[in-house]
Amino acid sequence: MKALFTFFLSLLLSLNLAAQDHSHQSARPISFPNFGAYQTLSTDLHMHTVFSDGSVWDIRVQEALMDGLDAIAMTEHLEYQPHSADIPHPDRNRAYDLALAEAKDHELLIIRGSEITRGAPIGHNNAVFIEDANKMLKEKAEDAFREAKNQGAFIFWNHPAWTAQSSKGLPVLSDFQKERIKMGELHGIEVVNYGAYAEESLALALEQDLTILATSDVHGLIEWDYSNKGLQRPVTLVFAKEKSLAALNEALKAKRTVAAYNDLLIGRQEFLEPLILNSISIHNAHYMSGTEIVELTLKNECSSDLIFENKSAYTFHESSPVFVLKAHERKTFKVKTLQKMKSFELKLEALGAFYAPSKHPVLSWEVTVKE
Ligand code: ZN
Repeated sequence: MKALFTFFLSLLLSLNLAAQDHSHQSARPISFPNFGAYQTLSTDLHMHTVFSDGSVWDIRVQEALMDGLDAIAMTEHLEYQPHSADIPHPDRNRAYDLALAEAKDHELLIIRGSEITRGAPIGHNNAVFIEDANKMLKEKAEDAFREAKNQGAFIFWNHPAWTAQSSKGLPVLSDFQKERIKMGELHGIEVVNYGAYAEESLALALEQDLTILATSDVHGLIEWDYSNKGLQRPVTLVFAKEKSLAALNEALKAKRTVAAYNDLLIGRQEFLEPLILNSISIHNAHYMSGTEIVELTLKNECSSDLIFENKSAYTFHESSPVFVLKAHERKTFKVKTLQKMKSFELKLEALGAFYAPSKHPVLSWEVTVKE
């Protein structure tokens, strides 16, 4: 009898565990506020599985659900398939097809992509929102880019600062890229790839008017490469008119992005500023009794740690002018406004945010003080 009871108990427990497993709940969801007319979609547009040089089969969808992403692109190397002796896969769309089936009961968007793979100076380039990866398999890289463009793809230059192709760790814009940009066959550039942020790639993005991206380029597990080390996977935040593949493609081509990696936020000023402004909420501003000092609470509403320096006309009481507001953290500050005011301007420089090399946005919030 006891054995039977134990059996049912363990059956119940295992069913319960299986149910938990399927919910894909996680302590690490990536989330940022919407602003203006846009939905902020978190995307990872560069990843691999055994269908090229990755070491996993079909877990990219589960990982993305754990991270709370809105969209991922499957981007196997077109021309490089080191596992093909064991896993023949003549159909270059196979990883996408499997991911699409895996994601069918979820909100996660799956984007069909491919990585066009050559040595320097052409380097590695992802084409996403393609229609058929097989048709992109061409002798000449120029033909692969043209085919991707004809399929309506958004095309970006991967890890231009990769030391295997650039010994100084600097992006080198060659005639090949210049020609692709001129032809409308190269739209974006990774400024963060697998944890490496290159300021020089940001400079190039601005100079050549390219979309700014961050990607994980994961080959193993997100857990091993990022989560277990206390890191977040790099993501590209895309400001789209709605959550759909077409709206994502449009927003990427319109360069409405911010690259996010841990406490780093990199993007054009016009998107970086509203993103950070909307990531902070201010609560309970009031004068401490018998003083001209305002006490208020700041809350970080996003999943990145934000680093600030006080640039207000007023200094802080009992705290450093440089501070970190961790993801979703609330912190109380005291501001010496010198006289009692109904409202005042809180001005903070976002030290982890870059709209150009070494350039941080300075944000202002109007703080209303309770009577
Ligand atoms: Zn890659």
